[in-house]
Amino acid sequence: MLIYNLNKIELFNLLQSWDEPAYRAKQVWQGLYQHLYNSPEQFTNLPKSLREKLAEHTTFTPFKVKVFQDSSDGFTRKTLFELPDKNLIEAVLMRYGDPADNPQITSSAPNSENRGAKNRRTLCISTQAGCAMGCVFCATGQMGFKRHLSSGEIVAQVMYFAQMLKQENEVVTNIVFMGMGEPFHNYDNTMAAIDTLNDSEGYNFGARRFTISTVGLVPQIIRFADERRQVNLAISLHAADDDERLQIMPVNKKHKIKDVIDACKYYVDQTGRRVTFEWALISGVNDMPEVAKKLASKLKGLMCHVNAIPLNPTAGYNGKATDRQRAILFKETLEQAGIPCTIRMRRGIDINAGCGQLAGSVLS
Ligand code: SAH
Ligand code: SF4
Repeated sequence: MLIYNLNKIELFNLLQSWDEPAYRAKQVWQGLYQHLYNSPEQFTNLPKSLREKLAEHTTFTPFKVKVFQDSSDGFTRKTLFELPDKNLIEAVLMRYGDPADNPQITSSAPNSENRGAKNRRTLCISTQAGCAMGCVFCATGQMGFKRHLSSGEIVAQVMYFAQMLKQENEVVTNIVFMGMGEPFHNYDNTMAAIDTLNDSEGYNFGARRFTISTVGLVPQIIRFADERRQVNLAISLHAADDDERLQIMPVNKKHKIKDVIDACKYYVDQTGRRVTFEWALISGVNDMPEVAKKLASKLKGLMCHVNAIPLNPTAGYNGKATDRQRAILFKETLEQAGIPCTIRMRRGIDINAGCGQLAGSVLS
């Protein structure tokens, strides 16, 4: 049993079934999430018998590191994990705020979230092996769905990097669910992982420092809004017209743009929080000024922000990335129509840091 799959109550129940007092369970929880121990031997505050029991009944590492790659600028580390059933998942650590690190293009408006952000350590993690949503531009979508990750497999990705950064006296500052998979297709396990990481007696990672990115599953957006979580929400839109969106995102057959935007309005009403729309800029497909105008008219009145990122080319799709000049034109057109936009550069393109790309290259 993977220890990270247990929520706090389940861990207490387990230790109770071993006739351990409640404070022992608390020590285990704190060992895992405050001291970031990654094996039973490290729990030197526990009696040896309990350490042995943990070793016998639980596991601490659900995967092996198959490959890791650092980008040539040294700011991005991508890691490919192999699960016991041989499925591969990816996670990426991005370091911002260091000298000479300038991950984004800005034109005139200094409205960047990154600007001035010192020493951000953003971790991008997976919620599924593969993905069932089939977005044509996405390397994960191209490989299809393998399986959901358990909450513990999601938590373990964070613990792996948290333990690594601890050696350098650093911490993870932001967690984005933008690795492999669709988090809202694996809703319960994703939220269980967030609840574990958010627990104030454990890892205590603030809700506002998580960002969930979704392809736009309407019922789950509503559910998420009703739960009034303080977690940030990002919607992958990529098109302002249903027919055009359907060509690159099969999910649009079920969830139309208007329904997605209406669900976002509900989310903003329920939570008072701004929504982010993600937009992969694909040359000649969705980067024209007319498209920006259409998008602005659809988003009008919604408390939102657009994150535009030039497409990261993948083997299975022959679209090309928008160049810098056209990207700036897109941003300016949107902003003139009243919708704030940031252009982000994909980090670590030289290490296949696009979603699903490292797994894709290892599999082939
Ligand atoms: N399934 C979720 C989260 C994982 S994908 C979602 O789709 O939102 C994270 C982000 O990367 C999404 O916005 C997705 O559209 C984007 N993305 C996927 N492949 C890409 C590519 N080749 N170039 C640019 N962005 C890409
Ligand atoms: Fe799945 Fe997101 Fe990739 Fe679409 S972009 S296939 S939803 S991981």
